[in-house]
Amino acid sequence: MKDFFEENDDESDYINNEIVNDLLKEEFGLCFQCNRPNTGENWCKVCNSEKFRQDFDKWTSGNENIDKFIQEAQLNANNNFELLEWIPYNRLRNIKLPAQGEFVYYAIWLDGWIDHLDYEKQEWRRIFNKLEQAYNIANDPNIRNPLQSNENYGQPVALKNLSDSSDINYDFLNEYKEWWSNDSYLIPLLGITQDPDKSNYMIVTPW
Ligand SMILES: [Zn+2]
Repeated sequence: MKDFFEENDDESDYINNEIVNDLLKEEFGLCFQCNRPNTGENWCKVCNSEKFRQDFDKWTSGNENIDKFIQEAQLNANNNFELLEWIPYNRLRNIKLPAQGEFVYYAIWLDGWIDHLDYEKQEWRRIFNKLEQAYNIANDPNIRNPLQSNENYGQPVALKNLSDSSDINYDFLNEYKEWWSNDSYLIPLLGITQDPDKSNYMIVTPW
């Protein structure tokens, strides 16, 4: 599907647009809200990017480059796999240090990731599951932000430190994303968070 979108960037290419629109319509149907062809499963790029844009002033990573990187992903996402979010560290639970020799942190993201927009309520519908085993490890003294007993839902995620994230720049982030999507398209990047103690940024993916 990727090639279609790249060609579609040239808006003067009317014929190409028509072909793309027909293919998208056939594959994903029409958007309930604007009646344009959806660009992904339950995903209309036009309507969804507008919803993201309205919320740009409701979050910040504290780093201009990272904000811009996430905003662009939100405006350009053709489906929920291409999306990135700013994930506040205080929405993560049971954060567990990597085992020796590994470099990935385990955590639970209480909100889970976006699936689609509920047009009627203008709210994101998210994917999360009931947490069954998570309370056992909440007692482990080595984890941070232990899960509370009234927190019942979430999604397991992996956190990876972005190397030298103190002076992180936009090009670096784009290269990272490109490398990631070439290498493992089936595991989407979900977003970025920041460890408030060490102030380093971390990439979040599904566990
Ligand atoms: Zn739409």
